[in-house]
Amino acid sequence: MVIFVKEFNFSLIFISYIDKPYTLCLKVFFTFFRCETCSKEEAKYRCPRCMKYSCSLLCVKKHKLALSCNGVRDKTAFVSVNEFTDLNLLSDYRFLEDVGRTADAAARHCIVHSPATKRLLYCLRNKARGCNIELKTLPVGFTKRRENSTTFNANKFYWHLKLIFPHCHAEYTLKGVPDDKTLADILKPYIDPVESDPVVCQRLKIYTASPQSDVRILMKIENRSRNSVRYNELDASRSLLDNLKGKVIIEYPTLFVVLKTLKNDMVVLGQAVEIGNQFSSPSLSPSHLVIIFHNMGYASL
Ligand SMILES: [Zn+2]
Ligand SMILES: [Zn+2]
Repeated sequence: MVIFVKEFNFSLIFISYIDKPYTLCLKVFFTFFRCETCSKEEAKYRCPRCMKYSCSLLCVKKHKLALSCNGVRDKTAFVSVNEFTDLNLLSDYRFLEDVGRTADAAARHCIVHSPATKRLLYCLRNKARGCNIELKTLPVGFTKRRENSTTFNANKFYWHLKLIFPHCHAEYTLKGVPDDKTLADILKPYIDPVESDPVVCQRLKIYTASPQSDVRILMKIENRSRNSVRYNELDASRSLLDNLKGKVIIEYPTLFVVLKTLKNDMVVLGQAVEIGNQFSSPSLSPSHLVIIFHNMGYASL
């Protein structure tokens, strides 16, 4: 039996012998593309998500790490009407079926109706309100709800916390972080050149090699429109609890650790000076609420 599978820039010819337990696989390339990771070898694979060409498993893994790509096709990516084919229609139809099935399964889940769960979430939100934190919880079935391991015990929150290091495309999840711990202490195992774990230190070397004074900790402000994403800057010398006061948290806090000296497109609310220091303009008062975007000139709120 011979099956021809034509995909992307090459074809695979599978010749399988049903009566003999082996499969012979030949790769015939009609067009040659270079691997976009090592730029040396011929490409053999193409990522269904970011469409990058790779030559080997190693390069596939490297591109995933470098671009924070999960290699899974984005079922909700924008497709223009001109490019919309029967395959896209089928993909959308299956996606909606999956959504319906997942929502139905979540609604039937016994935990949703469990009085213990409801009591626990009510207690968490109530205790947070007592600390001037608006904690919002998501319905069962949401990833953040499933992940969240935050507890409240002996008058103290033990937070589930996510740390994101955008310059290294790294993300770490911490569990049971006491609310009285300072942000500087929380970050020590990651960015302190002496105290950090060697593996983590290697991954985050841009951070560990930079002076600690260049590190800024940002948290996204919730309940804003998608085209107006803003961040609050947190104080590393103060406790997690103090930093979360007066903020809205959806399930658990996610902190972005950025360097003043490197470019990023995070806009800090009420801050007149852009994160990269090339635009520093101390004469602007925060009341002007002038936000200077990277490479974009000026925009007033
Ligand atoms: Zn390669
Ligand atoms: Zn990819």
